[in-house]
Amino acid sequence: MGKKKREPRVRYVKGQGISKVKTAYEIHDLKRYQNLEHYKDVVYQCGKCGTCRTVFKDAYWSRVCPSGEFGKFEAYYLGGKNLLIWAINSGKLNWTEDLAKIFYQCSVCMACVQQCQIPEIHSYAAEWLMAMREEAVKQGFGPMPEQKQYTEHIMVEKNPYMEKHGDRLNWLPSHIKQSPDAKLAYFVGCTSSYREQSVAVATAEILNSLQVDFRILTNESCCGSPVYMTGQIEKAKEIAEKNVNMFKESGIESIITSCAGCYRTWKDTYPNKFGLNHGIEVKHLPEFIQDKLKKDELNFSKEINMKITYHDPCHIGRHMGIYKAPREVLEKIPGIELLEMTRNRHNAWCCGSGGGVRSSFKELSAFAANERIEEAIGTTAEAIVSCCPFCLNQFKTNIKDNEIQALDLSELVRKAI
Ligand code: SF4
Ligand code: SF4
Repeated sequence: MGKKKREPRVRYVKGQGISKVKTAYEIHDLKRYQNLEHYKDVVYQCGKCGTCRTVFKDAYWSRVCPSGEFGKFEAYYLGGKNLLIWAINSGKLNWTEDLAKIFYQCSVCMACVQQCQIPEIHSYAAEWLMAMREEAVKQGFGPMPEQKQYTEHIMVEKNPYMEKHGDRLNWLPSHIKQSPDAKLAYFVGCTSSYREQSVAVATAEILNSLQVDFRILTNESCCGSPVYMTGQIEKAKEIAEKNVNMFKESGIESIITSCAGCYRTWKDTYPNKFGLNHGIEVKHLPEFIQDKLKKDELNFSKEINMKITYHDPCHIGRHMGIYKAPREVLEKIPGIELLEMTRNRHNAWCCGSGGGVRSSFKELSAFAANERIEEAIGTTAEAIVSCCPFCLNQFKTNIKDNEIQALDLSELVRKAI
């Protein structure tokens, strides 16, 4: 007798996310302050309407905030957080360990921000959620102990996984050809280097198949995203500066990433937050593949008969506005049938791994992952596909009894070439 598939706890209806809302990328073109003082009056515009708890439209009012649904208290939703920020800014509330935890028990997925219809909140709330973490660090209440521990390791061994830097390239097979003078670098990132090495292998093989000259810098370090996202701005900036200097000195003019977090960090955080205008072109793998398909420089020759659903990683979706490229690439693979989850694109439910949540709030992290897995199973897809090794690792960790497969877009593309 086959294993019984789990039933979703919430109702999902197949649909398409079609609302035109401002993307995070557009938001980030606005002036960014990262200073709580600047948000004093804007935060107070929050009408406590609770709209940020659910998908405003297109997904039948499905819930959208992992922090609030897990915490089960208003403080964990954006509306509650806004009130806390106002109280802190007005001197009515003091920093405490418990208060800091509320702000860290949030994956900064920005799903709430997408739902709020107050323009200033819609535009700036992601900034002040980050500003609260920065302030928590300044006040001595952040980061969380596990985040502090991985940061210390990053500063020495250049990865948060307690691994040796010398082992970073252990995944690299001898058949991969690199060009020592290439101006294009594949920025592998820590998760693909140490935990989801199939993503790194597939990406390098794709580049070889397309006869693209590239190289991997042997001294590559963590991009600093896990440090930045936990409010440790000075340390994150130090990492960013070292990375940018090393890549510039090596003559790199463009970078391909296979990790959503690395992409956002190089493309957005380095220039827009740290003022490091590195001038290096940054492309995420699906954008690169989409470009090759458009130019007819790539044709998929093999069929993959599989029903899949696509999970939008927060760091390339809401944070950077990339929704189309991965879908277009997946749909071009012969035999692939793409089934959308109800909460898709800017309405996607977060996998629960980002923002330092997975290291410090394991139960919340698993709760979020399981809800997404259930939603994916509800589509009848055979696999949940993403284009971020951190999402992939999160799904693989939480999928039970092979109820659905978890794959990265790079793995499917590699198979289809
Ligand atoms: S943040 Fe926006 S959606 Fe949420 S309670 Fe405040 S006004 Fe309403
Ligand atoms: S960023 Fe995500 S987890 Fe945090 S309050 Fe908003 S919806 Fe909830």
